[in-house]
Amino acid sequence: AGCPQWVPQPDVLARAELLSERFERAYGRAPVGVWAAPGRANLMGEYIDYSGGMCLPFAHQYVTLTAAAPRTDGVLRALSLQDADESVADHRLRTTPVADIAPGAIGGWFGYAAGVAWGMQRVASGRSDHPVAVPELVLSRDFGADLMVDSTVPIGAGLASSAALECSVALALFSLSTGDDAPDDRLRRALARACMDAENHIVGANTGGLDQTASLRSHAGETLALDCRDFEAARLPADPSAAGLTWLAVDTRAPHRLADGQYSSRREQCEAAAVVLSVARLRDALPEHPTEDAAAAVLERFDDLVSSGATLRGNPEGVRLRLRHSLTEMVRSVRIADQLSSVDPDWALVGRLLVAGHESMRLDCQVTVPELDAAVTACLDAGALGAKVVGGGFGGSVIALVRADEADALAASVCASFEEHGFRDPLFLTLTPSAAGRRVR
Ligand code: ADP
Ligand code: MG
Repeated sequence: AGCPQWVPQPDVLARAELLSERFERAYGRAPVGVWAAPGRANLMGEYIDYSGGMCLPFAHQYVTLTAAAPRTDGVLRALSLQDADESVADHRLRTTPVADIAPGAIGGWFGYAAGVAWGMQRVASGRSDHPVAVPELVLSRDFGADLMVDSTVPIGAGLASSAALECSVALALFSLSTGDDAPDDRLRRALARACMDAENHIVGANTGGLDQTASLRSHAGETLALDCRDFEAARLPADPSAAGLTWLAVDTRAPHRLADGQYSSRREQCEAAAVVLSVARLRDALPEHPTEDAAAAVLERFDDLVSSGATLRGNPEGVRLRLRHSLTEMVRSVRIADQLSSVDPDWALVGRLLVAGHESMRLDCQVTVPELDAAVTACLDAGALGAKVVGGGFGGSVIALVRADEADALAASVCASFEEHGFRDPLFLTLTPSAAGRRVR
């Protein structure tokens, strides 16, 4: 197809109609509705959600759709139009009694969907880490559903297809169970927690809630300032399109390498640093408004404590690098949030902070791969204001802040750079800050 290749803008209503038809062919009855939830980009705040830092996500316009109809026999069934499980036939029907969903019981992609029903029960009864029980999320004993999902989010590209899947299923199940198609922010918070529990405990991915919050609580044209201490989400109104700029994503299509264990080990290293500093989580080592000076002072204190014999779990150099990433990332998040809450943001400064964020992901967090670094370099060489890896790294995507009328030329030079390196052709998307998950049909 040649490079650059752009991922087409999703036509959500057309996809919903097609999905309804396929649902009816597969299950022999029409769905009662279709719900859609988006993936996300994150401008800053990687690998700090579990440390209580601030993240700056926005939902983009690529969504996962879930068509659904209720059952009254306590059984959940699901089909995906992107069934990625290569060990089974295409579009295999997955099925489980809702009561049997438990950690370790559901393998493959179905864990993301079925896990949501489990997470909802957990949040409903107050067994989750959610601050209060939310009885609205309870599913009755005979509750069941037929589901069919269709994703327009590139899968495994760091743009949160997993959260889009969970959150669209959550909105569908919640609506089937309660009849409520317009959950308020309190309920969306609870649903995000249910999705996070699904990913943490049923899928077994140790993620911190950023993706699910963005998918369920974002607003069109805005970025969220998500305080991961308490999941308060402030709305940042600045939209780069008003300045002739746009967010460009480069999906490097680099194969994921070692991702799972690496993510958990980063988290453990941050926890080890927090123990040395005698704080519950690293965010607590910084003042209410984190600054570069404060971050440097904490790092110095850490060095003093270690050299005076504080016991430290893990490799000291690794723990120190992860600490430095976490502290500087928390400061960069606040600095970008300051810009995005002003009427006239300094986009050049935002761009420089993005680049600093990427460098920290490369050198201190150590989660980039050559394709990600090459994509950032190529974007900057071609005139982007800034660029950085988005999400957990080890493959996935880069997001760049670019002049809208230069996006095509910029993509072409990324293609040229990838060809020179002998990398696979990347894919390109322009990302628009978009609304949170909702019913679409
Ligand atoms: P990301 O969230 O960045 O896209 P993850 O590795 O977190 O990457 O999630 C990708 C996984 O989510 C896939 O391997 C698959 O199991 C699941 N997934 C996402 N969308 C779908 C879908 N439409 N159908 C089936 N599985 C999906
Ligand atoms: Mg994911």
